[in-house]
Amino acid sequence: DRFRHDYLEVRGLRVEFDGFVAVDGVDLTVTQGDLRFLIGPNGAGKTTIVDAITGLARASGSVRFGGVELLGKASHRVARAGVGRTFQTASVFDELSVLQNLDIAAGSRRKARTLLRRRSAVPEVVEQALETVGLTALRDAPAGVLAHGQKQWLEIGMLLVQDSRLLLLDEPVAGMSHAEREQTGLLLQRIGAQRTVVVVEHDMEFLRSFASSVTVLHQGRVLSEGTVAQVQADPRVVEVYLGS
Ligand code: ADP
Repeated sequence: DRFRHDYLEVRGLRVEFDGFVAVDGVDLTVTQGDLRFLIGPNGAGKTTIVDAITGLARASGSVRFGGVELLGKASHRVARAGVGRTFQTASVFDELSVLQNLDIAAGSRRKARTLLRRRSAVPEVVEQALETVGLTALRDAPAGVLAHGQKQWLEIGMLLVQDSRLLLLDEPVAGMSHAEREQTGLLLQRIGAQRTVVVVEHDMEFLRSFASSVTVLHQGRVLSEGTVAQVQADPRVVEVYLGS
């Protein structure tokens, strides 16, 4: 099983912006098969942690995935090490079809150009990703016509075909309908069973239904960690987060 050793080990992560310490010595271990949620009030440092892991914020400490040190690598090299992320606003090519977006993500640009002219064989990984994210019926639709939720699913599909083994998803259900949230939760569980998934989220209802573990951040530090029930029962969490 090539995913067996895929765990994320963050040690003493620290990010400073002009003297302001946004991430202050964070330790985080996420194993393959885990569906970890990062929660915490606005400004707790969640997105900055994801930025640091993906080479978009200067950080000190250590971030290892599958034993490989990621800190200091440029973001394209982090991606090549099997780490993929989404942003709160999906970035897909609106003029291209769902299939073409996936095909480009799969790295076969030449094939994508061929697809623009005539339909040719679709790589197996692309077929699988279409099915996993539930967009098979919309494969030929321009990505621009997709609903907000469907765009997020396409972005997740693009990470799957890129062969990301660590997925960092920034508020994937923000702005989604209840039905879309449920579908996304099930999708994340399916992916999380095989890959390492970290989700930045603050919707407690969503968390209760789908998280297998939770890390609560506050002022750049880990405040609490455990199952949803454990962190919900933690008085410090109640005080700074759930109580507010
Ligand atoms: P969260 O995702 O938990 O809401 P962020 O990681 O976005 O929090 O931000 C953590 C803190 O770092 C906030 O106080 C924010 O204002 C600050 N911050 C984030 N990015 C920058 C930046 N590029 N320059 C200066 N301060 C930043």
